[in-house]
Amino acid sequence: MELPDIVIAPDERLNTECAKVEAIDEEVKRIAKGMAKAMYKNMGCGLAAPQIGVLRQIVVIDVDWDGEKSSTRNTLYLINPQIIDKSEETETGEEGCLSIPGVSFPIERSSSVVVRAYDLQGRLMQYEASHNLLAVCLQHEIDHLHGITMFERLSPERRLVAVQEYQQALAAGARPGDTEVQA
Ligand SMILES: [Zn+2]
Repeated sequence: MELPDIVIAPDERLNTECAKVEAIDEEVKRIAKGMAKAMYKNMGCGLAAPQIGVLRQIVVIDVDWDGEKSSTRNTLYLINPQIIDKSEETETGEEGCLSIPGVSFPIERSSSVVVRAYDLQGRLMQYEASHNLLAVCLQHEIDHLHGITMFERLSPERRLVAVQEYQQALAAGARPGDTEVQA
């Protein structure tokens, strides 16, 4: 299987609403497996289909894998994921994104979420996450399916600075998986 390239911001595919998956067929499974491969290759904890240029509602997440070959992989495949409940309470944490390499920004998210999604076998699954990386990752990846990146989650003032920081990181050669630019 070919390893898909990561789409890097700015790119209009990252700001486009993705279509729902109509049928979990061989093609969707192939896309999802390719996404998982790209996520692990680039040391991410999540990846959404538009990040490989596929405008469909497919997400892969693994918040358990620590980057070591030997460590356990726990790949979650989410087809047409929907946030069905989220807390009023929020938390702000530093987030990175494979499509916005070299930088991380403080992003405010709900502390807890409940997400429903189909898995690759077509079973309707429910994920409840609270005060952890999974809660952040679910919200970050589902945002991608609706054309929302970290930049859109920042205040207009903060966004100006963030875009500038990002342009500097890109100019310095940042690649997917980098959260800091190496001098
Ligand atoms: Zn992202």
